[in-house]
Amino acid sequence: MLSSSSLSRFRKNLLAWFSQFQRDLPWRRDKDPYRVWLSEIMLQQTRVAAAIPYYLRFLERFPTVQSLAEAPPQEVLRLWAGLGYYSRARNLQKAAQEIVARHHGIFPQTEEQALALPGIGVYTAAAILSIAYEKKLAVLDGNVARVLARLDAVTGDLRSNGRWPKLQQTASTLLDPCCPGDWNQALMELGATLCTPRSPQCRLCPVAESCEARKLGLAGSIPEKRKKRDTVEIVLASLVFIDPKGRTLLLPPPKSPQKSTSRADVATLLSRMWHFPTIEVHQNAELELRQHTHKLFPALANLHFVPAPKARHAVTFHSITILPFRIYIPKLPRLASAKSLPLADLSSLPISNLTRKVALSASLPSSM
Ligand code: SF4
Repeated sequence: MLSSSSLSRFRKNLLAWFSQFQRDLPWRRDKDPYRVWLSEIMLQQTRVAAAIPYYLRFLERFPTVQSLAEAPPQEVLRLWAGLGYYSRARNLQKAAQEIVARHHGIFPQTEEQALALPGIGVYTAAAILSIAYEKKLAVLDGNVARVLARLDAVTGDLRSNGRWPKLQQTASTLLDPCCPGDWNQALMELGATLCTPRSPQCRLCPVAESCEARKLGLAGSIPEKRKKRDTVEIVLASLVFIDPKGRTLLLPPPKSPQKSTSRADVATLLSRMWHFPTIEVHQNAELELRQHTHKLFPALANLHFVPAPKARHAVTFHSITILPFRIYIPKLPRLASAKSLPLADLSSLPISNLTRKVALSASLPSSM
């Protein structure tokens, strides 16, 4: 797409811009493979600003691959709690254990070995290996694809009709072999800061002279918006025991879903973490929750269910309404593996944002 001299100018301009304007991010302070890997996993589906405090806390508690591999899984999840997409944390620890067992505790240097680790796909392998080891692997994520599509004025859905492999080819052609790590980061940075989905700032762009979309006035309309999946509405009801000391009861992480359907099961919605007894409501929240409560705690009778303000939550394309019910009880019921803890502070266990919202609602007056 570019002549050799244009390609050379293109690379020079982008790298010079990156060197001058890149954001000061904690994972850019060194190229330690563990840190690069951790940042890449945390940044999947997560904004930079949201990931930073988690990254810093995680590294403080698990400064090495070894310490992560040996940590209790619940502790790893606790430090991940709130970041979402918890399979990332589970895979991260499994991969750390494999790295310790098979690679002497150091992130492997080949693409094949990296791809064999849990949670590492083509994009993540390329990002880690190029940044940490300067391997000549071009990254292609949403940000980079948008930039490349605009540079070549590629119209249509980037994920269909073979456009993605072509973009991967373009990314590989443009990759600067002298500094693959900086090059990949520069393209990602351009997509994240100037060549943004809405209102790209072409006037500040270091590669504007090579951009077809800008010349054709198409920058704002490329790439074509993907059709959104229809939202699935789900209603959940949760049971919140409260004893006179303000303590409540959480159940341990539910098992993996048995079936795979387009509709998430309750265990998935709870991110398979510690949670209040929760059911999906089909018709009558209180009645169905009563039946569930009776199954869990057959010895409890005449419980008074006090509705708390409802809460809203979203997980991917699921729009969830949560109906928490409080039960004020002189003594929390006993259940093997359940844990009691203060309703106002559940931080000692790994919980999902959904469970956090239930706790918050249950702490509010009913009139709200
Ligand atoms: Fe993106 Fe505009 Fe730069 Fe083209 S000129 S790459 S559309 S910011």
